Amino acid sequence: MFNRRKFIKATAISAALFSMGKKSMANGITIPKAKNIKKPIVISTWDFGVAANADAWKILSKSGNALDAVEQGVWVPEADETNQSVGYGGLPDRDGKVTLDACIMDHLGNCGAVLALEHIMHPISVARKVMEKTPHVILAGDGALQFALEQGFKKENLLTPASEKAWKEWLKTAKYNPVINIENKLYDKAAPQKLPGNQYNHDTIGMLALDSNGNLSGACTTSGMAYKLHGRVGDSPIIGAGLYIDNEVGGATSTGVGEEVIRNVGSFLVVELMRQGYSPEDACKEAVMRIIKKKPETAKNIQVGFLALNKNGEYGAYAIQKGFSYAVCDEEKQDLVIKGKSYY
Ligand code: ASP
Repeated sequence: MFNRRKFIKATAISAALFSMGKKSMANGITIPKAKNIKKPIVISTWDFGVAANADAWKILSKSGNALDAVEQGVWVPEADETNQSVGYGGLPDRDGKVTLDACIMDHLGNCGAVLALEHIMHPISVARKVMEKTPHVILAGDGALQFALEQGFKKENLLTPASEKAWKEWLKTAKYNPVINIENKLYDKAAPQKLPGNQYNHDTIGMLALDSNGNLSGACTTSGMAYKLHGRVGDSPIIGAGLYIDNEVGGATSTGVGEEVIRNVGSFLVVELMRQGYSPEDACKEAVMRIIKKKPETAKNIQVGFLALNKNGEYGAYAIQKGFSYAVCDEEKQDLVIKGKSYY
């Protein structure tokens, strides 16, 4: 039977919630302003983020803009042949082809991406050209290469002898099981540098910067999962998955098994959680928990890490597994590597 009293109570509660919702909508963002906003600042995934941040800092410290800083910053691992998970020297796909994924996003919400791009040392700069010179957001494969060449990029062989050797080693068994290694399982046993190259089958650089004008930008670039199917694309060049920037709130980026990040639209989720008032670390943790909750058995054996920076210059990270590190650079600290917290 219809209960009038309950109805009135329920209506009053929903009206209150509705007006609260409206209030927060009217206010735009709910993220509280810090007294001392930390800027400029740049953060990026993994230990190799230190060298990348240092180049980004050259721009940020001279009041340069965040977009230039993130592009220049990620050039460092892209050109580093000893880094087998980003750019030149990246481990190839199952067919021996080095295919690169990258995206970039600025404070105005402009973005550009390249997917499965071959032969170009700096895919991040092609992604920026897609953003600035075309009406599109994404170019893929041969079309991306054709565009890059038209824009004056040089065609190069990106498969280094070390990566070719690792691929040939893999070909001996050619087991199609492109799982991403979990750092702690390897790192606990030996010094990372002593491990054979082909055990490092992942690690994307995702970089987020807040410049002295208070504007945010981000970049994400990778050779993706080693020995993947030709044409496989992960989260890294997908806006909202591998990277997202909202200049009102903050930015986020990810690394690890891209498929799980895409399924949860991870970086967008982290930014939206920060909009609701979550700290960067709590937002990253909640995004990780979504992955774990949806597929608890899968999550036990994979790595995914998120990294976030908010408009106040506060940052944080969270990963499924131990071993995820990130680098921070601002006026006070130039080469700080922090071990992110993790679920396991
Ligand atoms: N997220 C990348 C991909 O799925 C790999 C990584 O970051 O380790 O391609």
